[in-house]
Amino acid sequence: MRQTVESAKAMGFAALLDRIKEAGLTEYGLCPEPLADRIYAACAKEGDAYVHAGLNNADVDRVLLGLLREDPERVLAGIFAAGTLVGAAAKFLYIPEEEKELTEALRPLAEEYKIVLVNDIINVRESEGDLLLHIVTAAELADLIDGCSESGVYVSTDGETLKKVPGDTPVPELVSLEGAKAVYLGYGYCTPDEAKEMKAKDATTGLIRVLSEKDCIVSETAKQLLKYRKASCGRCVFCREGLIQLEFMQREITMARGKSSQLDLTKEIGEAMTCSTLCTVGQESSKIALTAIEKFGPEYEAHYKKNKCPAGVCTAFVHIYIDPQACTGCGDCLDVCPADCIEGKPNFIHMIDEFECTKCGKCIEACEEEAVQMTSGKLPKLPNRLIKVGKFKKH
Ligand code: SF4
Ligand code: SF4
Ligand code: SF4
Repeated sequence: MRQTVESAKAMGFAALLDRIKEAGLTEYGLCPEPLADRIYAACAKEGDAYVHAGLNNADVDRVLLGLLREDPERVLAGIFAAGTLVGAAAKFLYIPEEEKELTEALRPLAEEYKIVLVNDIINVRESEGDLLLHIVTAAELADLIDGCSESGVYVSTDGETLKKVPGDTPVPELVSLEGAKAVYLGYGYCTPDEAKEMKAKDATTGLIRVLSEKDCIVSETAKQLLKYRKASCGRCVFCREGLIQLEFMQREITMARGKSSQLDLTKEIGEAMTCSTLCTVGQESSKIALTAIEKFGPEYEAHYKKNKCPAGVCTAFVHIYIDPQACTGCGDCLDVCPADCIEGKPNFIHMIDEFECTKCGKCIEACEEEAVQMTSGKLPKLPNRLIKVGKFKKH
């Protein structure tokens, strides 16, 4: 076991709590209360108290799990020390369900620290009165005991690598805002102008992601909502049903079936979710949709009013066609089409059946003549039957 555990035992309850108070150690994430207060509250619980450590339930970005991957013993020692302070009957570490490999890798070490690993989110209702501990807080508690604390917050700008920076570091010092359309941080979007005023500590999940003109806000929002749907335990109606509805409506908009009423409904459901749910999944997940609509309304309008995806991402708004002047009738596109929707024969201009085309883009890659084109505008005049190469007349 790491020295942290021996040091914590040697220090004793009072001295360790004094150190936590002097250092001003606060719980990381969405409930930034002094850790000492949370420990006192758990000690005052009637009956057995437990420690439940993990990410915020709503943290579907998972970048802060990097702390567990980099130095698991640091996090486990922090959980152990917190458990000793509250006299915990048991200590649990919650790891997202999809991280089975990480869980198995941690199991021998967790057994040594008498920490139970759970592949789930924290059940907030059942853990009332217990000590809820973010894994960042656990890591920082271990550092404090070891005498190697450094103030700051963890951020990742590539979704993988974590670095610790002072909490008041301006966001523009961490990411380039040149060509940015939006910045995703702390469960929602902000505009590049807003991002100029934001600090590293605003990135609650640790992730700062810059979206460019090539990223579609509606499509990105739908993807993130799907991650929340997967994370939801389904106990609260507003979280379970709300997320299904929110994701469905954003997806409909990306598939050219959008209506302005879907925006009003998104706002209504999103706002209701924030105050009618038990944990951060329900309370935070709608922020992405609410901020997307509030700050990037014109991009939504372009989808449902102009039938256009400004980023060119939503394939429902694009057409793929073969330029009859450029096609040499070689057949390469036909050979690679997984939907079998290209008609042609050698030396004849090939044609795409738009109704069957899945817009996978394989034919674009295959055509050396660059005859397969993608457009979000109007289609040019195209042959309606097989015509020999060179014989197609535009007019
Ligand atoms: S808010 Fe969602 S994830 Fe949290 S308890 Fe309710 S249903 Fe489960
Ligand atoms: S579209 Fe391109 S790949 Fe397909 S037949 Fe014509 S030239 Fe060949
Ligand atoms: S985009 Fe994909 S599905 Fe459509 S014609 Fe090309 S290869 Fe076939």
